[in-house]
Amino acid sequence: SKPLIAIVGRPNVGKSTLFNKLCGKRMAIVDDTPGVTRDRLYAECEWRGKEVMLVDTGGIEPRADDVILKQMRFQAQLAIDSADVIVLVCDLRSGVTASDADVAAMLQKSGKPVVLCVNKCDTLGNPPPEFYEFYNLGLGDPIGVSSTHGHGTGDLLDACYEHI
Ligand code: GDP
Ligand code: MG
Repeated sequence: SKPLIAIVGRPNVGKSTLFNKLCGKRMAIVDDTPGVTRDRLYAECEWRGKEVMLVDTGGIEPRADDVILKQMRFQAQLAIDSADVIVLVCDLRSGVTASDADVAAMLQKSGKPVVLCVNKCDTLGNPPPEFYEFYNLGLGDPIGVSSTHGHGTGDLLDACYEHI
């Protein structure tokens, strides 16, 4: 079976937008309403002649922060159990949040390969100072991506493919 790449992260960081961009098809539902319930979705994706399965995670409803964190941990655990590479998506605009740090620690402890994606880096050129805060998550070099524009998505896939 094909290597599985799971996309995890807080609601509204752009996981589904990234998923769509990576598979090149409009398969996941992207909704501007924060926290709209969406199921996990799978898609095949080819990069440099090698096929992988991508999984988008979601289904997090707008509720108290502690409930969202519990659900993020659940999604992260599913990814740890089933994926070959995990992409943790964060949002440049919100900076590093407590939930990001919590899930990053959990993923790091699992020993699974993790690629850190800092999404919403919409401006080309040198990353802004806030970008460097993401090094504090302890997951190595963050990859700056703009899922709406597509910038950095090739570098992100290359980083994933280093582990498969
Ligand atoms: P999810 O909840 O993590 O799946 O996030 P979505 O993919 O549904 O995106 C949440 C919001 O962020 C939507 O309004 C997207 O259009 C927006 N978004 C996603 N990626 C980017 C990006 O790279 N740049 C900007 N500016 N907005 C983005
Ligand atoms: Mg989504």
